[in-house]
Amino acid sequence: MPAVNEQMMGLGNVRSAIRDLFEYGLKRKAEIGAENVFDYSLGNPSVPAPRELDEKIAELALGGNSVALHGYTSAAGAQDVREAVAEDINRRFGAGVKASDIYMTCGAAASLTISLRAITCPGDEIIGVAPFFPEYRVFAETQGAVFRTVPADEKEFQIDFDALEAILNPHTKGIIINSPNNPSGAVLSRANVDRLTGLLRKKEQEYGTQIFLICDEPYRELVYDDIEVPYMINEYDDTLVCYSFSKSLSLPGERIGYIVVSNRMKNAGDVFAAVAGAGRGLGYVCAPSMMQRVIRSMLGKTSDIGVYRLNRDLLYDALTEYGYECVHPDGAFYLFVKTPGGDAKAFCEKAKDYELLLVPSDSFGVGGYARLSYCVSTDMVKRSLPAFRRLIEDWKKECVSRDGSQ
Ligand code: PLP
Repeated sequence: MPAVNEQMMGLGNVRSAIRDLFEYGLKRKAEIGAENVFDYSLGNPSVPAPRELDEKIAELALGGNSVALHGYTSAAGAQDVREAVAEDINRRFGAGVKASDIYMTCGAAASLTISLRAITCPGDEIIGVAPFFPEYRVFAETQGAVFRTVPADEKEFQIDFDALEAILNPHTKGIIINSPNNPSGAVLSRANVDRLTGLLRKKEQEYGTQIFLICDEPYRELVYDDIEVPYMINEYDDTLVCYSFSKSLSLPGERIGYIVVSNRMKNAGDVFAAVAGAGRGLGYVCAPSMMQRVIRSMLGKTSDIGVYRLNRDLLYDALTEYGYECVHPDGAFYLFVKTPGGDAKAFCEKAKDYELLLVPSDSFGVGGYARLSYCVSTDMVKRSLPAFRRLIEDWKKECVSRDGSQ
């Protein structure tokens, strides 16, 4: 009998491609100086949390009620915080959410693992639509579910409905959507949302099952143009929203977010109980108490996301001028560029010669792209542009001399 769970040991031993590159970046920065490495590897917000958030932390910390501040809250979160979160959702989206539908969590990762644990039994299927956050596979499989993937629609990074319809079956328990999307920056269009919800409703009827829509929303507020991001609780009854403040308030290390279980689903009480049970089983009861209080005072606010928009425009305009192909990203802080010749890993290895750290797309469920996280300083973006130009020029020449095809 193995001494430990081998699935877990495997996960612990293999670092993600993103983390690998990040570690390489740390080493390289120590060797040649941080200013000489153009690190586009990690989705770590580069703008500070709002000043009033830090002031709130100071006020709470020095406010004298240390025992209450650092004490346990209810397992699902402090009641006043859940009420405030529900109010904020209703003010913004008119979604009819109640405090009792909210389960406070340690960020989107916890929200997703809890939700997947709550809705699946071993062998149930969870669908991810490529390109997707690589950890979805880990989250689903470690809950005992089977992770199935819909190939990417490479025209616009919306949904390939023929492929989705071919995968849906009576064992489908849920589909994860992520809009705005990591890694493509695409926002799911109104037409796609309507088609998706219509299809799921039709399949629920056909199979006599419940198919949950799991909306992973850490980038909801990071949209740079006047673009609608439908609130899915208003669109489809069997919805769970997995929200996080990691990106909107630049708080990824503080681990705070929530799950909303739509009260419009017919068995909402059972599903919420399963969420609470999964939180308990996974050890995620009582999200960080001080952070619950902090976000309560920051609802509806964001960090200054203008920097991301500036970076997006600079990079998109320059890279497309140099000959990179890229779907225009409407949100999040990622650019997903095609790697000429199709071999993303080889291209990203080559990029290292120019001190550019780009993530190859394979772990996002699609080959042939590189992801740039542009949550970096605008100064770094500007300084990196000549390297991007030289990279594509040299790479295209190499491709031509190798196979004459580019
Ligand atoms: N989902 C997506 C699409 C992400 O990009 C990330 C983090 O980058 C997460 C979930 C995890 O977010 P959190 O830090 O809130 O756990």
